[in-house]
Amino acid sequence: MSTPETSFAEDASVRRPSQGSESGGVQHPAHLLVVEDEVHIALGLRFNLQADGHRVTLVESGEDALTALDGARFDLVLLDLMLPGISGFEVVERMRRQGDRTPVLILTARGRSEDIVHGLTLGADDYLPKPFELAVLLARVSGLLRRTQWARAELRVAQQATGDTPLGLPVCYEFAGKVILFDDLKILEGDREIPLTIMEASLLRYLIERQGKPVSRKNLLEDVWGLHEDTDTRAVDNFIVRLRRYLEVDPQEPRHLITVRGVGYKFDPGEEGKPASTGA
Ligand code: CA
Repeated sequence: MSTPETSFAEDASVRRPSQGSESGGVQHPAHLLVVEDEVHIALGLRFNLQADGHRVTLVESGEDALTALDGARFDLVLLDLMLPGISGFEVVERMRRQGDRTPVLILTARGRSEDIVHGLTLGADDYLPKPFELAVLLARVSGLLRRTQWARAELRVAQQATGDTPLGLPVCYEFAGKVILFDDLKILEGDREIPLTIMEASLLRYLIERQGKPVSRKNLLEDVWGLHEDTDTRAVDNFIVRLRRYLEVDPQEPRHLITVRGVGYKFDPGEEGKPASTGA
């Protein structure tokens, strides 16, 4: 039997020595913003994330986090929820309202499913209950960074190599007057442009790849988030609510992101759904 951590094993290849001089497609260190008011936790996080090859900026409050995000580009935000001043919830809410799609990993001391669900609803991409094991934290960070790379680069590479994505889906998908650009993380509708978070794009892509087929919440959690045990499946429902707001004419009467009772969800493109060529 494989260990429960098998899915994280490949993350080892993503880690790299700090400031390595390697060439040939190795990215520069990811820049992480750690928002944590407990000093010993913050310093421990910085030490270990730096040792894993990342650049780290520490701030102690939500206000400072928003200021930092305003002034620099980060690859990932590690966000404590209970902060002095505005809460982590408010930070992620304001980020998304301003169109900031930087991936957010919530660190929640309480580990309460309500917190997790609320955080994901507001636009966070993943979460980790405290206390957490270092290896799990590093794996989650690598996973989110890898998904960012996927969103921005891997699909292009795969397309160049095979003429298509590994799963047979072009980087664009067009239906019902909307164009979804998976690697650019946005939906175009006329003049309107709707930014997607990485997890929103991943979830949408997963459902579209399986269009017409019901997909269970459990499979979505496992395959899209890489989560296994006792995760609250309401997290999925909250993402679907978000996606319906983007894609449905009437989110209360969904025609594309359809609830399948007792199972989960399925994507129905309607009449005019088709993969849109990117011109290649
Ligand atoms: Ca705190």
